[in-house]
Amino acid sequence: MTQIISQQGHRFHYDAIIIGSGIAGLCYGLRLAHKHPNCKIALVTKGQLDDSSSRYAQGGIAAVAGKNDSIQDHINDTLNAGAGICVQEVVEDIIQQGPKCIEYLIDQGVIFSQTESGELALTKEGGHSARRIFYNTDQTGQAIIHSLVKKVKLQSQIDCFAQHTAVNLILTEQLQQSGKFPEVVGAYILDEKLSLVHTFFAKTVILATGGAGKVYRYSSNPEVATGDGIAMAYRAGARVGNMEFYQFHPTLLYHRKFNNLLLTEALRGEGAYLRLPGSGFRFMKNYSPEKMELATRDIVARAIFSEIEKSEYSYVHLDLRHKDNSFLSKRFPYLYKSLLSQGIDMGEDLIPVVPAAHYLCGGILTNQCGQTDLTRLYAIGETACSGFHGANRLASNSLLEGVFMALKAAEDSEKWLSHSLKNHQEIGDWDSKGVTDRRRASQINAHWRGLRGEMTSYGGIIRTEAGLKDLLKLINTRSEMIEEYYWKHTITRDLIELRNIVSVAQMIVTAALSRQESRGGHFRDDFPNQNEISRPSIMKNPQKVHTVS
Ligand SMILES: Cc1cc2nc3c(=O)[nH]c(=O)nc-3n(C[C@H](O)[C@H](O)[C@H](O)COP(=O)(O)OP(=O)(O)OC[C@H]3O[C@@H](n4cnc5c(N)ncnc54)[C@H](O)[C@@H]3O)c2cc1C
Repeated sequence: MTQIISQQGHRFHYDAIIIGSGIAGLCYGLRLAHKHPNCKIALVTKGQLDDSSSRYAQGGIAAVAGKNDSIQDHINDTLNAGAGICVQEVVEDIIQQGPKCIEYLIDQGVIFSQTESGELALTKEGGHSARRIFYNTDQTGQAIIHSLVKKVKLQSQIDCFAQHTAVNLILTEQLQQSGKFPEVVGAYILDEKLSLVHTFFAKTVILATGGAGKVYRYSSNPEVATGDGIAMAYRAGARVGNMEFYQFHPTLLYHRKFNNLLLTEALRGEGAYLRLPGSGFRFMKNYSPEKMELATRDIVARAIFSEIEKSEYSYVHLDLRHKDNSFLSKRFPYLYKSLLSQGIDMGEDLIPVVPAAHYLCGGILTNQCGQTDLTRLYAIGETACSGFHGANRLASNSLLEGVFMALKAAEDSEKWLSHSLKNHQEIGDWDSKGVTDRRRASQINAHWRGLRGEMTSYGGIIRTEAGLKDLLKLINTRSEMIEEYYWKHTITRDLIELRNIVSVAQMIVTAALSRQESRGGHFRDDFPNQNEISRPSIMKNPQKVHTVS
């Protein structure tokens, strides 16, 4: 017997809705609230307020500070990493304002590590020509998010909606008919506890939804990283760019349950070896005999992936057994404790590792202020493609981009605060008439497992045309089935995420197929070289769907 389950919720009106509570969303909210004490802001987030990739950042945030550094050097390092497709003006803009972004964070109460003489300490990471990374031990993200969340909670204008998942953007009918890009006037938001979909209206909507690491089997990202903002904006008709450039980190802990513990590059910097399980062979000899374990991230990640493909094991080993235990526990306190909690003693045991999806360089196309193609809609942080990272992100540049773009978008979007919405009263509430059944959890889980496995094997670190074509067929079939589930089943967070991640997978694979070269975070076995001419890749929903769906 079919059963209709109504999920219609309430209607809310705000000046601004921020979707996502990572570094970008929190900084945007604080800046807008400080500058406009009368405006009403909704901060919507899928988990708890501190649930984001930002919280897990270990290394730090890059900005020029030391005497032996210059803005131009940081710009050059960023452009080099970006492999020819960064937008130069954006890079210059962000890096020039880097020191101001650090000041902003300190003003919000963020504590960075200091030298013994009481100056802010700076460290260096791969690809940087100088020491310019501000950090707080190996838990920089935690220190930043802790302070920002504390500040946000004190702001009476910001209403926080934890365990609320944005389902879709709301667009006005009127502007769609006039042939212009539509105007975004709000979002449908699932209240997970009540299982209701509320209708939120706002004069401006900010997508700060982070990356999409969950599209691959192994990822350093937390569970919330499912590309929701990108999929929502794409469905609404905004352009997305550079989706083929996924940065993989070589060493994530391989563990059945504890599945997003990143083992920082600094471990190899301090002398960790990579070995094959069984033989113990240091296989980097075959890939980069000179640099060995200190070869660049992409070379090490490809080497590990290739070795795993050939072997009966699903991982390789990271070996620090030749290092002193007391040194390891002081230098890497968080990792030391985390591994120990899983029964792994860094100084005594081999650590199983796999390469993992770490950072999406592409996303929703924006201008220098975070403005997307759609009126009143902004995208900031990892969900956006501002042109800063190009084909590959320089380490510690993403937190910097998050702060900068948040502050910039807050300035730019304030113009909408005096532009009231028109005709939005006619927009309907969430329509659940088509819902005839509750979801079948096991089927949804099977799609998750299937998709992430396929993306890892065919569309991950090493790609070929044949593999990508096969993969696209598989994904398209899944996508049709998932779309049907979406319309017929009660909306839940995992169904929303599954629908979004399959859409992001389609974008990644389509972009990877069309890029017949290897560049930055994209490697094609059949086109191993970089073309002379560089171009970003831009795509738009072919159906130009401008209806609410
Ligand atoms: C383990 C790890 C280490 C890293 N180390 C560094 C580093 O040292 N330096 C550096 O610069 N970068 C680092 N990065 C990258 C960096 O942390 C991220 O790129 C950055 O924090 C992204 O910030 P964000 O605000 O854009 O998104 P996030 O911090 O990912 O926040 C996204 C937010 O959106 C919410 N959300 C998503 N979808 C929805 C939805 N549908 N409805 C409601 N809410 C939603 C999420 O719950 C979350 O709150 C690291 C990343 C990881 C995973």
